[in-house]
Formats: sequence, C-alpha cells, structure tokens
Amino acid sequence: VTVACVVGTRPEAVKMAPVIRRLRRPGSGFKVIVLATGQHRELLDRALADFGLRSDDDLGLMRPGQDLATLTARCLEAIGGWLGRARPDLVVAQGDTTSVLSAAMASHCHRIPFAHVEAGLRSGDPAEPFPEESNRVLTARLADLHFAPTPWARDNLIREGIPASRVRVVGNPVIDALRWVERSAPPTPIPTPTAPGTARMILLTSHRRENQGAPLARICAAVRTLVARDRGLLVVFPVHPSPGVRAVVDRELGGIDRVARIDPVGYPDFVALMKASRLILSDSGGVQEEAPALGRPVLVLRDRTERPEAVSAGACRLVGTDPDRIVAEAEAILSGSVPPLAPISPFGDGRASDRIARALADWFGLPAEDPSS
Ligand code: UDP
Repeated sequence: VTVACVVGTRPEAVKMAPVIRRLRRPGSGFKVIVLATGQHRELLDRALADFGLRSDDDLGLMRPGQDLATLTARCLEAIGGWLGRARPDLVVAQGDTTSVLSAAMASHCHRIPFAHVEAGLRSGDPAEPFPEESNRVLTARLADLHFAPTPWARDNLIREGIPASRVRVVGNPVIDALRWVERSAPPTPIPTPTAPGTARMILLTSHRRENQGAPLARICAAVRTLVARDRGLLVVFPVHPSPGVRAVVDRELGGIDRVARIDPVGYPDFVALMKASRLILSDSGGVQEEAPALGRPVLVLRDRTERPEAVSAGACRLVGTDPDRIVAEAEAILSGSVPPLAPISPFGDGRASDRIARALADWFGLPAEDPSS
C-alpha cells in the first residue's frame, strides 16, 4: 500500500515524523512517500532531518509576499498534479495549514482516500485563528479517516456530523516525537545560552499570525519588565525567520541584557531548552502539548486555544498579550507561589503512531504485523 505523507511546515514535520518512521517499519506493508510542499522550506527540512528523514519530492511552492489565495491555488494545483502522476493509495497529512487543506482537496478531486492526523481541534470561534480554524473544519469535511488526539477532539468531530466509525482517538504523535528524541537524539553539546549569575530561564516563542505586530511588541514589553525586575532571570527566544517577526523582536528586545535572541534550533535542542526552563511563554500549538509532558508550565500568549486539555489539567494558562498580565502570571510561577508541575500528558502516551499504523492496516485489510520483525 503506497501512502503519500504531505508536509509543509516545521510542526507538521515534527508530528508526521513518528508516523512516517512507523509506517516504514519493515513488515508494515506500507511504502511511504514524503511529499513536501515547501510552505516553510528551511525549518521543514531541518525538522525532517532531526528525525533522520528527508522529503522524496518537494513542490517548492513558497514565494515571497504570496497571498493566501494564491498559495492555496498553487498548492491545490501542484499537489493535484503530483497525485495524478503518483497515484498513491492514501494521502496522510497533519494539522491545519494551507498545505493540509490543499492536500485534502486534491485527494478528494482524485478520489484518493485522505487521513487527517490531529483531527478535531477547534478554537470555538469559526473565524479565528485565521485561516487555521477554517482549514481544520474544511479538512474534516473531506477526510475519510480522522485521527483525533483526545476524546474532546473526537467529540467535536461527531458534533459536526462525522460518523464515529471514521474517527479514532490515538493521541498526538508529537508525544511520540518527544519520546523518540529523548531516547535517540541527544541535543548538540550546549544548546542553552547562559548568562553569568542567572538562576532561572524562561523560554519564549511567538510567531503566530494573530500576534504579529502590536501584540508581539506587547509580549516583548513584558519580557523587558521581567528581566529588569529579576536580575537572576534569563529569557531565551528562538526567533522565527519570518521578516515581520524578526523586525519587531529586534526593535523591541535588541540590546536588552539577559534576553538571548537566537535562531530557531533543531528539535532535540528545543526539547533540551524546554527542559532547562522554569517557565515557557508561547503562542505555539505544539509547545502547549510538549511542555506539560515535560512538567514545564506554559503561559499561552493567546486569548483562546484549540487545545483546552492542558489548560483544564492546570499545565497551561491563557494569558493573552497584555504586558501587566504576563508579568504578574510569570512572576507568580517564578516566585514559587504556584506549586511546580508534575509531568502530565493529556495528548497521549507516545504510541499514537502505532495506533495510526494499526488503523490504516485495518482500513486496507493488511495482515497483522509479525511482532518479531
Ligand atoms: N520547535 C523547534 N525549534 C524551535 C522552536 C520550536 O524545533 O526553535 C518545535 C517545537 O518543539 C514544536 C514545533 O517546533 O514541536 C512548533 O512549531 P511552531 O511553533 O512553528 O508551530 P505550531 O506548534 O504553533 O503549529
């Protein structure tokens, strides 16, 4: 059975890597082709390489300044053309990007079954985040198989009329990725920037579209206050290469002591940075899933989340982008007035890719794998 795995961005590579590796295991009965759309070329290639993978084909679709309609149209045409030539038996994609929706639409046009990984996430606001929420909803309409990370995500799908028989709760393969890295990929020797005299570290990431511009400047203002008020604090900020993000961060945090602006790091190094931090500030989806599993609290720099499970479990708090609120919440955690977090993993046990492989084998009527292989 030939499976095309479509990936476009860094988080898709991180979350699809365990699935690709699992489906490629000898004796599984699958042949996997990794198709990159190149939506975020540099970070995507790096994340695949962190898992010993590379794309088999790359559509190279990213162009500077390309608007969303153009990107979507080009993705649909290019993925559709590729599927017409390659004719895989199944297409699999993860998440909520333009690459994923285009892959689902192109598969539909070619009548090739489509399986959606990380299905059923919903923010509760049909318009936001734009365009991710509509990408999720539209992809669900087109998918044949839905791999939901949690029971909450499954229930969202069922409420939208997706037949329960097509939904499997499997966990999120990001936890598989995290465990794989902990087992098999040591970080490079010194991933953690240090500053003399600092005892605590905050790890910060922010590049979500809704936070670009003024919200990001407010987040940076909170960081300036935090380091000014606590001389034992180091903030490490791997800055996304997007020019809009870089410009704001350089303007707002350039030259501030104990704020280390660094280039994005490889996945094993990022895991090491999460472990080394006392607190994480982030608007990333993946980080909300990974950090609780490492026992690190996250202040989520957003007003809503499509991953409420970690908030309910007490590992993540939605704080938005108001500087006073960020500073107050961060100081409460750093001062120890909030008890430390035990590692919890509402998003799975690290075996999502096994469950996905088994479900796909059942779907295609493949014989059970020989456990010794
Ligand atoms: N990540 C990484 N290097 C970095 C920053 C993040 O490998 O310098 C990883 C992180 O662990 C997570 C993923 O990239 O798995 C998150 O990517 P991003 O924040 O771009 O996307 P989102 O999670 O919001 O979809």
